[in-house]
Amino acid sequence: MLSFIYEQLPTRVVFGAGSFDRLPEEIGRLGLKRAIVLSTPGQRRLADEAARRLGVATAGIHAEAAMHVPVETARAARETARRLAADCAVAIGGGSTIGLGKAIALDTGLPVIAIPTTYSGSEMTPIYGLTDGGVKRTGRDRKVLPRVVLYDPALTVALPAKIAGPSGMNALAHCVEALYAEDANPITSLMAAEGIRALARALPVVVAQPLDLEGRGEALYGAWLAGSALGMVAMGLHHKLCHTLGGSFGLPHAEVHTVILPHAAAYNRDAAPTAMRIVAKALGADDAAQGLYDLAKTLGAPLSLREIGMPEDGIDRAAKLATENPYYNPRPLDYAGIRRLLEDAWHGRRPA
Ligand code: NAD
Repeated sequence: MLSFIYEQLPTRVVFGAGSFDRLPEEIGRLGLKRAIVLSTPGQRRLADEAARRLGVATAGIHAEAAMHVPVETARAARETARRLAADCAVAIGGGSTIGLGKAIALDTGLPVIAIPTTYSGSEMTPIYGLTDGGVKRTGRDRKVLPRVVLYDPALTVALPAKIAGPSGMNALAHCVEALYAEDANPITSLMAAEGIRALARALPVVVAQPLDLEGRGEALYGAWLAGSALGMVAMGLHHKLCHTLGGSFGLPHAEVHTVILPHAAAYNRDAAPTAMRIVAKALGADDAAQGLYDLAKTLGAPLSLREIGMPEDGIDRAAKLATENPYYNPRPLDYAGIRRLLEDAWHGRRPA
């Protein structure tokens, strides 16, 4: 018999090409008047565009977002927001910029308006992360959940294939793990399955025909569903392992997800057969793990931990770290199994 808890998160989503233009209207709807606009240094021009659209509702621009939100970066952004007397933060960019907005919200309670330009899905989750001395701490707090998200596929046209492919695989990882989460429910499972379908269809188009707005829109739609699922259920082996690898070896976030996902799916294959059938069907593949590997290959995304900078002698330490704190996963964690997974991922082998 069905039995579950479903908790809807209260974010307003405005989706479609041109929705960036609705930024002033959306800020006005919330009664906000002084926005600090956040971006990475590389996306400063986009932040300038947001400020131009906001006009007098711009308090200032802070283009200092950095990967994994170092605490010093968060502190500086909070101080700037205070100095500018900002009443909200507009985060325009990928997961790093949205993460900076969340770090401001965590301390000050300022509402965040997110305009994602990658497929990280962070904009739909109450999850924040802060890095102190190389150690990343994550947590959940409703305060950091963006109030409004503007999804404009036109803003993702500039996303190069090298970033788009791994970023899309990161979104797929949210969907795959949502399907076998301990607290999965029928709604998150629907979102996850539809997210996989959309991403699997759209990502090859995004990479092969970067200017195809239809494909960009479908990929962003899949990323929205993926982020929504991630925000509502707890993640398992795949996310924990990526967290360990990213934190301990300084590996790039989306690329680690890309390499590990097929192997985490293979590890859980027999323990979560229903979830894996749904993943395989949504991918249009015979097997979930192999379908994910083949998709990453089609996207020209990295397939091995070796090529993204993990030292081979780190496999042992990673396997130990990944198994020392138990958590829910469909197949219980065992050192030998995780070590084998990491070895396969290090070499970039196609899952058996
Ligand atoms: P990112 O935000 O670090 O962006 C990668 C690079 O791409 C940056 O240099 C950025 O400026 C550039 N970029 C972004 N959009 C672009 C565009 N449209 N055109 C050209 N360049 C563009 O990468 P990410 O993968 O989006 O985010 C990774 C971070 O997000 C990690 O710190 C991860 O932990 C976090 N994250 C958090 C959650 C959550 O729920 N809290 C979910 C997923 C990821």
